[in-house]
Amino acid sequence: MTNPSKYRVPKYNYADQFPDIDTVTLPALRRILLSGEYVLGPEVERFERSFSDYLGVGHTVGFNSGTDALVLALDALGIGPGDEVVTVANSFHATLQAIVRLGATPVLVDCGEQDFLIDLDQVAAAMTARTKAVIVVHLFGRSVDVSAAAELCRRSGAELIEDCAQATGARFAGVRVGTTSAAGCWSFAPAKNLAAAGDGGAVTSADADTAARLRLLRNFGQSRQNQHELLGYNSRLDALHACLLTEKLDRLDRWNAARVEVAAAYRERLTGLPVSFQAPGAPGEHVYHLFQLRTESQQVRDGLVDHLQSRGIDAVVRYPAPLHLQPAFAPLGGRAGAFPVAEALASQNLCLPIRPDLGANDIDFVCESAAEYFAGVRPAVGSG
Ligand SMILES: *Cc1c(COP(=O)(O)O)cnc(C)c1O
Repeated sequence: MTNPSKYRVPKYNYADQFPDIDTVTLPALRRILLSGEYVLGPEVERFERSFSDYLGVGHTVGFNSGTDALVLALDALGIGPGDEVVTVANSFHATLQAIVRLGATPVLVDCGEQDFLIDLDQVAAAMTARTKAVIVVHLFGRSVDVSAAAELCRRSGAELIEDCAQATGARFAGVRVGTTSAAGCWSFAPAKNLAAAGDGGAVTSADADTAARLRLLRNFGQSRQNQHELLGYNSRLDALHACLLTEKLDRLDRWNAARVEVAAAYRERLTGLPVSFQAPGAPGEHVYHLFQLRTESQQVRDGLVDHLQSRGIDAVVRYPAPLHLQPAFAPLGGRAGAFPVAEALASQNLCLPIRPDLGANDIDFVCESAAEYFAGVRPAVGSG
């Protein structure tokens, strides 16, 4: 039996991602350090090709973050002031931040009770003649119905953009997300399923013109040195990160499969407690960037998080406030009650630790601790 006073279940264990650190990773990084090719260059091109092959998409353009991937994708598609962009009220800040940064008008919709994903019926109802794009978010690793979203956009002449930051490797109906829309936007931040050792991102597109425009935009709008074709950004992927990403890409499907197994174990073990889960979709449609557990009230949620944390388990809340209730977006006029499902999830959901290397003992300990909370056992503060 595990010892509750010493046992810890951290949410991250990045060291486990480098099984060959001395023989493969460090020699490769050393080579890059000594080569002097640090920004873009052959190592980034190699990753871009590998990622395109992995996904089955024409083009990958690497950036310095997932946030910039969203900003530059909107820019490359010509979206700006006067354009409406529809997206969902429950996402990470960056999705909405990008729309507002471009001077476009965000139009939020709610998410579904079962899948926690953008409600496409509400998207259809929110679209107007000014709707220039829809950003769907494959939230927590679960894919949105990309075909239905694409059909909506096709009918009204809007661009479909996918925020794939949490869903690297996920599929919808057997097809990888981020491969059939105008732009798939990826983050390789440390916590993501495929991660650099710092910030990184990419946009994928089937369209060669969009990709060419993105390549200009990320590099000061330069077609060659000191020739600036358009107003650009400095948002380039670095060679050291690209090298790590290429190395890890081979393991991503295995890691995602391990995440799916952890999620299945949680579901099985926690069924019977007064909790519910994000609908998993068909096989391949969820890569469990996060494992969401829904409780019946904020009081229960907060109590369970405290209890798990007191036992050394890294339970966290993602996200405690939906986008329309964040102070940064107050100027948009969001009010409580506008998106009831997103608001309910923000107050009732918590995340259990999920990572590819989470062991059977960890899962046991998390599930036993959750059951213990619902059985009314609450250890004195500080005993954990
Ligand atoms: C992480 C994340 C981003 C932003 O990516 P960064 O690389 O951190 O800038 C955007 N959207 C979602 C849904 C994310 O989870």
